[in-house]
Amino acid sequence: MGPDRHMSETERRTKQATSQPAYQTLDVPIQGMDCVECTRHVERAISDLAGVVSVEVLLGAERAVVRLNPDQVGISDLRVAVENAGYRVPAPETALAERSAAQYARRILTLLFGVFAILIFVVVIGEWLGLLESVSRLIPWQLGLTIILLGGYPVFLNVLRAVRRKEVIAHTLMTVGVIAAVIVGEWATAAVVVFFMRVGDFVERYTSDRARHAIRDLTALSPQKARILRQGDEVEVPIEEVNVGDLVIVRPGEKIPVDGEVVAGQATVDQASITGESMPVEVETGSQVYAATIATLGNLRIHTRRIGPASTFGRVIKLVEEAESRRGGVQRTADRFSSYFLPLVAGIAALTFLIGRDPLATAAVLVVACSCSFALATPIAMLASIGASARRGLLIKGGKHLESLAQAHTVLIDKTGTLTLGEPQITDVIPLGEISEDDLLSLAASAERYSEHPLAEAVRLAAFHRGCMIQEPERFEAAPGIGVLAWIDSHEIKVGNRRSLPDTSLPALVLEKERQGKTLLLVTRDGELLGALAAADTPRADVPKAISELKRLGVDELVLISGDNRYATANLAHKLGVDFHAELLPEDKIAIVRRYQDQGRTVVMIGDGVNDAPALAQADVGIAMGAVGSDVAIEAAHIALMREDWMHIPLLFRIARRTMSVVKLNIGFTLIYNLVGLTLAAWGILPPILAAAAQSIPDLGILANSSRLLHQAKQDT
Ligand code: ADP
Ligand code: MG
Repeated sequence: MGPDRHMSETERRTKQATSQPAYQTLDVPIQGMDCVECTRHVERAISDLAGVVSVEVLLGAERAVVRLNPDQVGISDLRVAVENAGYRVPAPETALAERSAAQYARRILTLLFGVFAILIFVVVIGEWLGLLESVSRLIPWQLGLTIILLGGYPVFLNVLRAVRRKEVIAHTLMTVGVIAAVIVGEWATAAVVVFFMRVGDFVERYTSDRARHAIRDLTALSPQKARILRQGDEVEVPIEEVNVGDLVIVRPGEKIPVDGEVVAGQATVDQASITGESMPVEVETGSQVYAATIATLGNLRIHTRRIGPASTFGRVIKLVEEAESRRGGVQRTADRFSSYFLPLVAGIAALTFLIGRDPLATAAVLVVACSCSFALATPIAMLASIGASARRGLLIKGGKHLESLAQAHTVLIDKTGTLTLGEPQITDVIPLGEISEDDLLSLAASAERYSEHPLAEAVRLAAFHRGCMIQEPERFEAAPGIGVLAWIDSHEIKVGNRRSLPDTSLPALVLEKERQGKTLLLVTRDGELLGALAAADTPRADVPKAISELKRLGVDELVLISGDNRYATANLAHKLGVDFHAELLPEDKIAIVRRYQDQGRTVVMIGDGVNDAPALAQADVGIAMGAVGSDVAIEAAHIALMREDWMHIPLLFRIARRTMSVVKLNIGFTLIYNLVGLTLAAWGILPPILAAAAQSIPDLGILANSSRLLHQAKQDT
């Protein structure tokens, strides 16, 4: 079934590719972004270029993901645009070397900064003890100014760049505050403010870095090298040198470096890196294995199918990294708010100055506001949640989806393969008329030879067990939601449900099977009914528990939707205590999702991603179960569960709600903090030094609050 599925997917892709202009997605490293505002500048600079379709700038990853038309715009244009905006695009080869040079420079700066910090600390204590005045008088203002400029030049540089672009950033206001303090001769105060501005920057960077921790831990699991067979010799090579088709050798305890098929050997494989499942699986010749999983016992020889970023693990990492760019409504609101926030603060500062005539209070207002915290409040929590989830085999493709999931109360569930094991068994073979049971099964299996449907698999398996011959069909067509049509020995053979034979009444013997809740496969030759097969599928064991857990979580509309017959669907729906819609074609499933959406409901759709991909995509949140190894499922769904564990569904709901409550707390905290801070500063109660020192408190609060998501995730199973 594997190869067929891949083939049809490739075909679909090719079709899409030819009907659109050849867009390209570039992943551009960007240096010098310190704050969320910087990302917006870079975003604007790039999106202004002709030929750029879309751009997402990731602060934490220091990258821009740009979709563009390569005929119109290239990497050099991007580089110029980014550099004009005041940031840098390192050349890919030099990026690493430069990064270490930059790290070195940063270390020296940190050291200088430490010295500066001690000095400042002395000054702060000094002010407390009332000695600052004398210090200010003792040290000439020229020296004071030099200290301020030296300590604050990166900030001032950013502000200057922004001014050149006629833009206002958070640091612009603070810089005005510093200037105000210098003008009134409070240069020591100004120096302390500068110092805390730098501390604030550092905290912000640290905060976004920390949030990416879970993702980085994940990336660290990527295989680096592989042992391959070259002209009969085993050689160890870096992973980049492995090609599709290479034979890879894996010894006990080693990491499997590629996705591929086992061609020799047997092993126990720990797939936790992908599925989060700690129970190892047994693999043998013919099994699929995945990069970044670990062979604990036994040797393997693997035929390489996919490597690096193309492997399942590589795609998981990429999707999780891109998740940062899929912002939900809450985040967009917060972003918009932070752009109104600066003018507001400027207004309050102006009022403070005009009414109070107090330059120090004005300076305090300017430095206390922290607009960046608003922009951090959502993504930090989302990143923590998404990263922690990815480690457990829950692949969430964006904060947007968590946001929708947290407010969803309607869940639609596909039946075959999702609620059931998707491994139906043929229970009855009912020939009508001349044909023998074996001939009927043989004919059906030949017609189903190239179908990827689980029912087709069941028919082939039944034929195999009875030793029936399977023939090569002359032609084959799948009719989704109906069955298959094949030409065998110049006869038209159909295998499918009643839709494949609408006008024929069925004998009682056949109808009885249907009433028992079995799925009927009618076999016809040139329009004549030859007989029927009946199939039954086993429901997954953990479904009832998961469903009652969902109900307990307040999901009040649970609906089974299936292409199977009414009886089989009703039977199962009844057992689970949920509603149902049966005998649906794939397009009917989309229509049902829409119908619930039109009633204003946020719809979650759970499927296996194989034949319900369009419905998954239509839903507000499409969740694909058991996605490991299935590209289609990973692609179509908003959330892909790498493991087929139904308890992960209620778990997802809990994660989503917990994440959103952390986000709301983050935003609320920042809001209250700013309100109180601005009020106290405007009243002259909060001196600029304390205002500046308090700057990074919201960032730290957001970080501490959000990292609860990392820790709590470890508690539930
Ligand atoms: P579900 O919604 O339960 O996943 P599908 O849309 O995959 O179901 O299929 C719906 C119905 O179409 C099946 O119950 C079966 O009756 C029929 N069908 C689909 N594919 C095949 C096939 N390859 N062979 C026989 N019947 C099929
Ligand atoms: Mg299905």
